[in-house]
Amino acid sequence: MPRAHRYTQIQRAVRQHGAAPYRFQQILEAVFRRGVLQFSAMQALPGRLRQALAQQFGDHLLSLAPAQVSRAAQAEKYLFTLNDGRRIEAVAMRYRAGWRSYCLSTQAGCGFGCRFCATAAMRLQRNLSADEICDQALYFRALGQPLDSISFMGMGEALANPNLLTALECLTDPALFALSPRRLTVSTIGLVPAMRQLTQAQPQVNLTFSLHSPFNEQRSQLIPLNRKYPIEEVFDALDEHIARTHRKVYIAYLLLEGVNDSRQHAAALAALLQARGRQTRLFHVNLLRHNANDFAAERFARPSEAHIRQFRNWLEQAGLKVTVRSSFGDEIQAACGQLHASVPEVRMS
Ligand code: SF4
Repeated sequence: MPRAHRYTQIQRAVRQHGAAPYRFQQILEAVFRRGVLQFSAMQALPGRLRQALAQQFGDHLLSLAPAQVSRAAQAEKYLFTLNDGRRIEAVAMRYRAGWRSYCLSTQAGCGFGCRFCATAAMRLQRNLSADEICDQALYFRALGQPLDSISFMGMGEALANPNLLTALECLTDPALFALSPRRLTVSTIGLVPAMRQLTQAQPQVNLTFSLHSPFNEQRSQLIPLNRKYPIEEVFDALDEHIARTHRKVYIAYLLLEGVNDSRQHAAALAALLQARGRQTRLFHVNLLRHNANDFAAERFARPSEAHIRQFRNWLEQAGLKVTVRSSFGDEIQAACGQLHASVPEVRMS
């Protein structure tokens, strides 16, 4: 059973200490308006309440501490240490129009063993708590950075962690982070039961399915979970998601040279989406450039830019909506499938 997030617990504690309910509002104001993350620094609270809360929860609200940061032109990769010493990573990206997007982790490591993925090499250490997930966002917010969009594509399979739903509640709660669910994206390799749960609990949150091959046999080699939930079953869940939400679904497709980038693959991918009938228009394909890493179980190469364009043309000629995603984090190994919590090269000052 997932635990409540800390703000529910703090509210309860404020009541138990006999303080007036507005004291809880003062705490929220300190945290979310002013970026004050220590009880001892919340001057509006009576000293005794500050002490009691600090004793119960620890003085510092953050359940993680930044250890190091690597910087590239438009992306920063943060290595965070959790209270038990485990390490996770999050990536902050800046787009030209000033938009800031964050890629957060949901697990320390990951147990799904996708062949192209660096995180898989760490294996699953543990699920992050809802607070540990939200605290990555809180850290950036306290730095004064606007949380324009958040995707759960960092370390781990987001839907394998039941605490994700609690974290989403916290991030979308108008009294807390107050983020629109439409600015949040959950990415999955196809955990069908949890996809259905997400559709029920958070229908407005964006959903991305990492397909990477339209052929079950090949997909099972790249993503072993496909043996349990093959492509057709996942698409049944995606169809249900669209029928319920009328929202766009994103299909992530990582292009691997000579593996899944043939004309035959493009045709099969197009056929798969065209089979959705009237819902085809609500599927959007995101083509991802593969970034080499030293940790994945297998080495793959990225197709040439000309071939990526060709693959995109094939899909567009079949009537699909396609975007080639920029991957400006790759020079610091912060792009998709590259998070490994290895020691990066630039120390945080
Ligand atoms: S791609 Fe995602 S689900 Fe697969 S091993 Fe990596 S982190 Fe886990």
